[in-house]
Amino acid sequence: MIPVFEPVISEDEIEAVVAALRRGEISGTFGEALPAFEGEFAEYVGCKHGIAVNSGTSALQLAVAAAQFVPGGEVLVSASTNIATALGVLHNGQVPVPVDSEGVTWNLDLDLIEGLITPKTKAILPVHLYGHPVDMDRLMEIAQRHNLMVIEDCAESHGATVRGRQTGSFGDMACFSFYANKVITTGEGGMVTTNDDALAERLRLLRNLAFTEPRFWHQEAGFNFRMPGFVAALGLEQFHKIEHIIEQKRRVAHTYNEFLKDVPGLQLPVELDWAYNVYWMYALVVKPEFGISRDELAAALWDAAEIQTRTFFCPMSQQPVLHKQAGYRPVACPVADRLWESGLYLPSAWNLPEETIEIVCGAIKEQVAN
Ligand SMILES: *Cc1c(COP(=O)(O)O)cnc(C)c1O
Repeated sequence: MIPVFEPVISEDEIEAVVAALRRGEISGTFGEALPAFEGEFAEYVGCKHGIAVNSGTSALQLAVAAAQFVPGGEVLVSASTNIATALGVLHNGQVPVPVDSEGVTWNLDLDLIEGLITPKTKAILPVHLYGHPVDMDRLMEIAQRHNLMVIEDCAESHGATVRGRQTGSFGDMACFSFYANKVITTGEGGMVTTNDDALAERLRLLRNLAFTEPRFWHQEAGFNFRMPGFVAALGLEQFHKIEHIIEQKRRVAHTYNEFLKDVPGLQLPVELDWAYNVYWMYALVVKPEFGISRDELAAALWDAAEIQTRTFFCPMSQQPVLHKQAGYRPVACPVADRLWESGLYLPSAWNLPEETIEIVCGAIKEQVAN
């Protein structure tokens, strides 16, 4: 089988985890590895603070909690995203309102934002989908004009930049994931980054059950979202390789582009002139001109060489779990609907050899020939 992704864990990473275990960095928020990972990663992003947590989903839930919105507000989210983006909003008593995608980068369509803002709107939560950044200069300008908070979902965009500036450094807060298939991994894990001292303090407080003084006396409802120290040790080692990993992700994407550029009926991923795309996954859209549907192509790739693929996300506008929420606001998202039906991503491990990419592309071209 050629899997859609494959985490790469090296011996030095295993040794770093073992060393942290030997130092007793098991749980809690003490030790060397955790602050080192938080500090180095936040600095890379261009933020003063990094607050490591146990998943990207927790990072999103924690960030929205730290924002302290009055209940019943609305948060604009990318329609095409992992459900975690919307759940971080929902679990804080806020209503996620989907913003449809644009058809080029598949990110949220910035032209639609102002039409969706109401007096209830508190924040914008954009996702940098599949590693291509949102135009954050433009998004921040819209947010500032309407006095909205911005929380970036950077779960797929570690290292991506907008006019040379890192995703995660624009918004009030940014949420990263270190799940096994993300740009760097800790197994399960995440981080919130911010330049705001007060938000950083709240994030740390709420991550750790809102412990204050005296111990065991609590004024607020916190969470246990702590990242274990030995997990942070893995994150730190992975982080030290991030430039190499991103280079390799880009190599994989460029190789796919080269093999697929002349195939009719495929929309390939782009890199706009102001953007640096980290190609978290090599995603493409199967247009009607291709001749067969996305589902037929996926089945054919599996039959040809057990090539695993995955569809684009089901839009937030179509999620039953969100329809049930009090205050749910229906918004049509025709572009995200089309992407859900016609988009897929190909095997994208950063160590994917050129020969394997050639096999995948050969199997795709085979379908055109037929
Ligand atoms: C992976 C992902 C998440 C969730 O991260 P976990 O670490 O799996 O909880 C959130 N948002 C997006 C866009 C993601 O891709």
